[in-house]
Amino acid sequence: MVPRYHEAIDIAALCREFPPAPEFFDTAWHWSADEIRARQELSFARQMERAWQVPFYQRRWGAAGLEPGDVRGLADLPKIPTFSVPDLRESLARDPLWPDYFGIDPERDPPIPLAFQTSGGTTGLPRPMMFAPRDREVMNIVTGRRLYMQGVRPFDRLQVTLSLGLPNGGLLAREGIQKYTGAVPIMTGSGAQTPTKRQLELMQAWRSTHLVGFPAYLRHMALVARDELGIDPRSLGVRGLITHLGLEDRAALEDLWGAQAYDTYGMNEFGTVACDCAAKDGMHVFEDCFVVELLTPPDAAGARAEVSEGEAGSAVVTTLFKHVAPMIRFDTNDLTALKPGRCACGGTHRRIDGIRGRADAMVKLRGVNVFPEAVGALVGADARGNGEFLCVVESGERMTVRVEAHDPGVDPPCFAADLKRRFKEALSVTLDVEVVQRGSLAPLTGLDSTSKVRRLLDLRGKS
Ligand SMILES: [Zn+2]
Repeated sequence: MVPRYHEAIDIAALCREFPPAPEFFDTAWHWSADEIRARQELSFARQMERAWQVPFYQRRWGAAGLEPGDVRGLADLPKIPTFSVPDLRESLARDPLWPDYFGIDPERDPPIPLAFQTSGGTTGLPRPMMFAPRDREVMNIVTGRRLYMQGVRPFDRLQVTLSLGLPNGGLLAREGIQKYTGAVPIMTGSGAQTPTKRQLELMQAWRSTHLVGFPAYLRHMALVARDELGIDPRSLGVRGLITHLGLEDRAALEDLWGAQAYDTYGMNEFGTVACDCAAKDGMHVFEDCFVVELLTPPDAAGARAEVSEGEAGSAVVTTLFKHVAPMIRFDTNDLTALKPGRCACGGTHRRIDGIRGRADAMVKLRGVNVFPEAVGALVGADARGNGEFLCVVESGERMTVRVEAHDPGVDPPCFAADLKRRFKEALSVTLDVEVVQRGSLAPLTGLDSTSKVRRLLDLRGKS
């Protein structure tokens, strides 16, 4: 038997369960907290039933003494141990193609049409993920909702500057745009696939209305247009920047392009989880598809608690729709906080703040926690730089921040001294600063060749 995509999924039924835009915004978007919870309970029960068939969970939950009857609803979530990327890597070490968290056995299971994508993977093998048709379509519907919220309408042209190929971001964007927005995806890919100047020529010729990409690359494109091609990026007619802002300076990016910049949060394993609405006041979680808990780090006994509103915690995600690799309490290590109150847009789905950093990219320096993202926010606020930087950690005592000067007229010692003082004020730690020539960091950060820009170079133990 050869499986066929259109026979493997009932799209009409799926659209009733997970309404795409614009219907979603007339229905589930305004549900009360109780209505949202009731829907989550139904989907969670089905997701748990599936998860119990997955060997990864059978062995982990079995070891923790958990039995199927122990989890009867979302109130029992805290009984389930969390897991994170190292646990996935451990499963991948045993089988790099069919890790046991997929829950698919190609020797025994009936065939289904699978999509295959990976994480960005800056070191070692990237993390693979496969998607059943239903998994993929829910992710596509969510992409469509996100873009609708951010102003995308039929016949708009979305230039996608994310890597195409193995990493999920670029191709997932294409599917969502094409299937659920009516807009046209223009897949130029990263700077390695279409050089930046060519990207700008195409943007001009094809009148792209939105750019999809990482903020560092969108900033780079604007600066190349302005400083190398003599084109004011604001004259290009781009209305929206669809991006992952994190701690990047939204106002500076919007000012460069004369366009609205929208933040998004998602992962290779399950696509978009949360995003900005037009109010740009926190990212709404799509709560019919995900349960997001914000947890404290484990205490000495391994126990974790939900942080209180406004406090930062690690985002722990439970999917409510996945067949391949359902994610039950996946600790993303991304730090964020819940936004209190109601959003001006009228949407009732809870909001989280922009991602403040990755708990596992944190560097402990003389007892102080330093996030490269926080360093980047300070670098980006000084107009003498172009926002490009790289944190180089030489030892547990010492980090040097290399920053690019905007033009040769900048006085390096003065720029370095001011930044050093700013870091000390804002981060309570002394960092060394080295001012370098514009463009010289790109080979180390991958700015022009990948969409996952590297901001931390850890040389500890490598000399
Ligand atoms: Zn809103």
